[in-house]
Amino acid sequence: MKSILWKIPFFMLSRRFGWPKMLPINLTLSPTPRCNSRCLTCNIWMKRENELTIEEWDRVLQSLGRAPFWFTISGGEPFMFNDLVPLAQSAYKHCRPGIINIPTNSLLFKRIPEKVDEICKSCPESQVIINLSLDGVGEKHDRIRGIKGNFEKFEKNLAALRELKHPNLSIGIHSVISRFNVDDAPELFDYALGQKTDSYITEIAEQRVELDTVGLSVTPAADKYSWAIDQLIERVEKMQFHGISRVTEAFRIEYYKLVKRILVEQTQSIPCFAGWASAQIYGNGEVWPCCVRADNMMNLRDADYDFRRVWFSRQADVIRASIRNRECHCPLANASYTNMLMHPPTLARVGAKVAKQSLRVGNGPARAASAPDVSAEEPEAAEERPAAQVRPEADPDPSAPETAERR
Ligand code: SF4
Repeated sequence: MKSILWKIPFFMLSRRFGWPKMLPINLTLSPTPRCNSRCLTCNIWMKRENELTIEEWDRVLQSLGRAPFWFTISGGEPFMFNDLVPLAQSAYKHCRPGIINIPTNSLLFKRIPEKVDEICKSCPESQVIINLSLDGVGEKHDRIRGIKGNFEKFEKNLAALRELKHPNLSIGIHSVISRFNVDDAPELFDYALGQKTDSYITEIAEQRVELDTVGLSVTPAADKYSWAIDQLIERVEKMQFHGISRVTEAFRIEYYKLVKRILVEQTQSIPCFAGWASAQIYGNGEVWPCCVRADNMMNLRDADYDFRRVWFSRQADVIRASIRNRECHCPLANASYTNMLMHPPTLARVGAKVAKQSLRVGNGPARAASAPDVSAEEPEAAEERPAAQVRPEADPDPSAPETAERR
């Protein structure tokens, strides 16, 4: 983390004046939109793309050099991308990131621990964060994710990952708070925090171009979200953290408060640095500032796989001008954590909170989270559907969906 702190003033200058030219420190790679979940909050599973091959990805990552500190390999379901392990290895070889964060729906639970094991072994200097999606307890999870038995696979996957003893592996749980589960949030928080994973993070469901869910009702009402998230904040504030976990938990609480502000203010409550410090590369080679807008800066296939040619293009500057002019706003977690890092008042509050806790904690009991989980990823948003519906065409069987064409 220290290796990126010195870049903060340069990103601020770059956003304001267009200089110096900076490459992103937080990069999401979404190599495939294919997914074997059928979530009420996401339609990405219906998409098919002409996906970049691993050779193409390797050329792109080589062009990035050591700039990215944080990779999220998202989807779709990232474990459905056959070359997930080589992709992580390529990112490691060329970029040596501090963090490789991979979310998963847990459905390919036999394949997941095997691939995580390989990634941890072959990327020893990166913290590998595996975030398991959990949107409800028991059948409520299955209903929202659209797959019977998903909760059971979540539990099996968690148990299998716990068997892996890599020092660079961090296991987290990630919940999307939508209008489908906001009323049950306290039960979800108690269950998730009770698992004592290395981290627990929630994100609010929202409309995203990437997910083909724009115009659909998935976001909980602001007052309901506030009610739910205040209960999470209350629970987390009663817990004690040590080391880096104090910092990450302080950021997390700031994020939850920021989401509440954005829902009410309906603007960029703090400046967004998507397009400067964070970005996404979609599976077809397009470079986006974020998955919410999904504006195409240029396709890497049209730029000889050179990320810099895309990032420093005229079209990229046009998109940046729109973001700087606050023509969009959203509570996207992935971008928001980077934005908070670039926001001195937030940094000051986090610093004050950590200092206060350091004075207070003394010898109290510890719940240590081993890695910052400023993550995010997962997609979510969608149309209202009958409460008990399990969506059709879902195939959680690892052997089947790799080649299934649904669109
Ligand atoms: S405010 Fe949201 S939609 Fe706009 S650029 Fe930032 S992350 Fe994307």
